[in-house]
Amino acid sequence: MNNIRSVRGMHDILPEETPLWQWLERSLGDIFASYDFHEIRIPLVEQAEVFTRAIGQATDVVEKEMYAFEDRNGDMLSLRPEGTAGVVRAAIQNSLLQTPGLKLWYQGPMFRHERPQKGRQRQFHQFGAEVFGLAEAAADAELIAMVERIWRKLGLKQMVRLEINSLGDRDDRQRYRQQLIDFLRPHFERLDPDSQRRLDSNPLRIFDSKHPETQALMADAPRLSDALGAEARAHFDQVCRLLDALGIAYQVNPGLVRGLDYYCRTVFEWITEDLGAQGTVCAGGRYDDLVAIQGGRATPGIGFAMGAERVLALLQAKGLEQAQIPHVYLVSQVDGSVSLALAERLRDEIPGLRIASSLAGGSFKAQFKRADRSGAGFAVILGEDELAADAVQLKPLRGEAAQQQTIATELLAARLRELLSDLPG
Ligand code: ATP
Ligand code: MG
Repeated sequence: MNNIRSVRGMHDILPEETPLWQWLERSLGDIFASYDFHEIRIPLVEQAEVFTRAIGQATDVVEKEMYAFEDRNGDMLSLRPEGTAGVVRAAIQNSLLQTPGLKLWYQGPMFRHERPQKGRQRQFHQFGAEVFGLAEAAADAELIAMVERIWRKLGLKQMVRLEINSLGDRDDRQRYRQQLIDFLRPHFERLDPDSQRRLDSNPLRIFDSKHPETQALMADAPRLSDALGAEARAHFDQVCRLLDALGIAYQVNPGLVRGLDYYCRTVFEWITEDLGAQGTVCAGGRYDDLVAIQGGRATPGIGFAMGAERVLALLQAKGLEQAQIPHVYLVSQVDGSVSLALAERLRDEIPGLRIASSLAGGSFKAQFKRADRSGAGFAVILGEDELAADAVQLKPLRGEAAQQQTIATELLAARLRELLSDLPG
């Protein structure tokens, strides 16, 4: 029988990686809280319609990537390919939108049936944030400033750059859509097959084509920015002015259109050159029509989603590893009633202390081998002699010159606190 393996494109996150994930989760959670965002946790599975309505039929996500299936009742369900549509569904269903300026954030796995490659999985993870009820440009600017703070906190500021654009309002986009179709129709033969297919269903997406011939054609296409109505234009100018005032660098990219139908006005992406082809690490935009599309009372909204795996890949490219290793390894030749109790006492006395014990026992030599392999900074040694003297040996396991020393058990916690620099608080 073949070994059972995980689904292609869906990966285990192994114990050696989880500390970095946890650190990322803590860092982002702290920043979200500092902007008054509140966490929401929604199901991984929704009625498929939650996504088809919001994201749009003629999008890659719905057309090609979504995991949709009929359950045993014959209901069409879907694994969530993204967070926003479900958060909007939850906000409407639970009457959260009565709070003006509601700010929500979420994290967790998303599912898309894409071709797995570097930076592209079928189960991946996103952090996302959504703001409801604020049509003002200040909301766009604050959200962007928050993501900029995330890059600074993670030490990734130098590795990402911000691109922004405005998609205008629905009428602007309708008008522009027709202009684009009229422009492209005579050149139909020069378009790649995907773009030919999109010409009538979703012509704006043709800007995303990676085909050189199509790209060359699009360079001469009419600009969406020239089709913006006065209000959308003023909104975008105000966003740019606020970003300037905050000292946030950005490039306006007129070809930035985003893949989901629900966006309007401001859209933005942070792009890196350090991850090869999968260069977008965070993306978002305004979606003032989405709440109404999902059946709620018209409420403006804006949000973003960040790809956790791509952020982690950047952290790793930068050389930041956060392996979780024990601070202390307890080596014992005495009865478990004494060594387990000592470990418990140290955990009580030193909050955040990570302590591993050689529960399997064995010779000093065997236990020291395990202590070394654990990566612990210190071994605490408890033998019969030490027990008799109410003391332990404290042995540094890293660094050269440091000496093993005998220390009274009651002084051990204080000594460890001096020696360990990375304890919380
Ligand atoms: P891409 O152009 O890379 O397909 P997208 O426009 O489909 O991205 P969004 O729907 O905007 O992506 O999702 C936001 C972020 O989630 C992306 O910028 C990316 O970092 C991450 N992401 C999207 N799809 C995947 C995937 N299959 N695997 C890993 N990360 C992903
Ligand atoms: Mg995609």
